[in-house]
Amino acid sequence: MSIAICPGSFDPITLGHLNIIRRTSRIFDRVIVCIMHNASKTSPMFSVEERMDMVNRVIQRYPNVEVDAQDCLLAEYARKYPGAVIVKGLRAASDFEYEFQMNLINKNINPELETMFLTSDGKYTFLSSSIVREMASYGADISGLVPNEIILDIQNKAKSWR
Ligand code: ADP
Repeated sequence: MSIAICPGSFDPITLGHLNIIRRTSRIFDRVIVCIMHNASKTSPMFSVEERMDMVNRVIQRYPNVEVDAQDCLLAEYARKYPGAVIVKGLRAASDFEYEFQMNLINKNINPELETMFLTSDGKYTFLSSSIVREMASYGADISGLVPNEIILDIQNKAKSWR
């Protein structure tokens, strides 16, 4: 059985993330969306539990996709699933630099681990969780950026955030 791990902070999950997850679910038998406790992102909007809950709701439509969370290194986490491949989305050249470096670090820790990249859908090239957080905090319309099921969660949270 082929397994893909789609890692990220998903704070919150966007339509750009979901596009990558959906396309990955067509290629692999099983997809694990892995929410990382990302130490470099200091003021998250949502707790890991809230992010898991939102991801869970939006992946209901994909039977071979599940969600998990972890606070160790991704290359260590992936050892739980021998043969699993990391799948990430690439938006722009700026993503490439960072992802290239991460890939080298992961390979150093776990040489068996492969990473594959899917290029972002043109509609979502400029979409990121930070843009969603920023827009929501100013009360801007976020429909078309995130799945409908989680718009209210973001609007409610944005009122008390910042
Ligand atoms: P963000 O940068 O939005 O905070 P994450 O850290 O959660 O996102 O990123 C998780 C993965 O999803 C990364 O591989 C990232 O490149 C990818 N990704 C994020 N947004 C998009 C998008 N709009 N299109 C394609 N891939 C994306």
